[in-house]
Amino acid sequence: MTNKIAITVARGDGIGPEIMDSTLQILEGAGAALDIEEIRVGKDVYESGVKSGIPEDAWASLRRTKVFLKAPITTPQGGGYKSLNVTIRKTLGLFANVRPCISYAPYVETKHPNMDIVIVRENEEDLYGGIEYRESPEVMASIKLISRPGTERIVRYGFEFAKAYGRKKVTCMTKDNIMKLTDGLFHKIFDEIGKEYPEIEQNHMIIDIGAAKVASAPHLFDVIVMPNLYGDIVSDIAAEITGSVGLGGSSNIGEHVAMFEAIHGSAPDIAGRGIANPSGLLLGSVMMLVHIGQGEVAARIHNAWLRTLEDGIHTGDIYRKDLSREQVDTAGFTKAVLARLGQMPEKFKPANYNGVNAGGLEIPHLTPYRDEKKERVGVDIGMNFDGTPEMLAEKILPCAGDDLQLLHISNRGVKVWPNGQPDTFCSDNWQLRFMSKSGTVRTSQVIALMDRLNKADMNFTRAIMLHTFDGVPGFSATQGE
Ligand code: NAD
Repeated sequence: MTNKIAITVARGDGIGPEIMDSTLQILEGAGAALDIEEIRVGKDVYESGVKSGIPEDAWASLRRTKVFLKAPITTPQGGGYKSLNVTIRKTLGLFANVRPCISYAPYVETKHPNMDIVIVRENEEDLYGGIEYRESPEVMASIKLISRPGTERIVRYGFEFAKAYGRKKVTCMTKDNIMKLTDGLFHKIFDEIGKEYPEIEQNHMIIDIGAAKVASAPHLFDVIVMPNLYGDIVSDIAAEITGSVGLGGSSNIGEHVAMFEAIHGSAPDIAGRGIANPSGLLLGSVMMLVHIGQGEVAARIHNAWLRTLEDGIHTGDIYRKDLSREQVDTAGFTKAVLARLGQMPEKFKPANYNGVNAGGLEIPHLTPYRDEKKERVGVDIGMNFDGTPEMLAEKILPCAGDDLQLLHISNRGVKVWPNGQPDTFCSDNWQLRFMSKSGTVRTSQVIALMDRLNKADMNFTRAIMLHTFDGVPGFSATQGE
């Protein structure tokens, strides 16, 4: 008898309790060896005044069991409530979001019958730091952060996942033709780490054409690894075109803790009616079983579930007169899966998790940081100003000096002085780039420059030091430069 593994379970909101009941019944019926601790998260907790949606004592359970099976929750609108998923991901360092997006044609209607993709999305960085500023009356800015260790972890996870599950190809998607430093780093690390997995086919696509291809020809893809925002968008597109959001499970993997759930939300429109499709959460729980080393039980459930679909026993969201045999509610679907435990699908490829050690996927040590010579060579200063580029330059030029020269002025990333184009639209937020004539700048010179700007009544909004690393600029060139 397998030793019981402790897991934490939250029943969630809306249809959450209904689909969790179904999932737990099937887990028990299939012989999963689990010791379940329940915690409360979501709507009630938010409404009791806890802005994060998760009470303090729940963290202790998550840290103890390290495995979380979570039903969807309802995030109240407004009122400063924080997304529970984002809080859990960030607090527990769940760096990888894994979403298999598979079509089940002909039993579930889809335009893409041969789709079998796994999206591995970076979960913590990119624009999801939520670091934003209002820089002027007219302009808002958001900071996109991509780190070398964060990227190494997700890219390695993508390749290790592909290896463990016998997948043949990993595709990386970025927009590094525009974001040469941030997305450029992601792409570069993908190429570097990819060399360690020569047995896996690999390619890179620009995200716009990549997303379009996922929508029009998903059979071209196998595993896709992406930064956070692109992964968020593309995984929803991919889940949608499989035919039903009700069918997708997902995992959020950290070095110590992992969370498993359905990809859909709490579906308040059908809550309490007992008609929800429990498949998304059930498939999330299958991923959980593989993660905790109970692959045999995972396969038993997965195969019974595939067989139920093939037998045409469908909940309302996927029911089709011409293909389904019987429309069932949540309880009916649960009973049908339980009755098929031990049976194999006849049309779909049977699931087999023998030898897959998903929980033990090795994330090899990160590459040690190679010392590079970092030199400060200039400063970008942000400034609000109403007027033309020439008027601004006239006010700024007398403040230059002391080895710092005004290289150019830009507006919304476009150079507008010197020699700007008269058609370029200028907002009220400007950037001044000062570079050292001699090669390097001291902090005191920058502070003195800002003092001169201040005395000239030119109030700056921010200053960012410009560095080179082994002589390579650590800052973007300006359009038109
Ligand atoms: P949703 O996924 O809950 O519902 C979208 C549509 O799909 C609805 O028509 C719904 O009835 C249907 N649907 C979803 N799951 C289904 C299932 N299992 N069976 C049958 N039909 C199903 O998305 P939404 O309406 O945008 O969001 C509702 C709430 O869920 C919001 O409060 C949102 O914040 C929350 N949410 C939570 C999570 C999570 O906890 N991981 C994820 C997404 C949304």
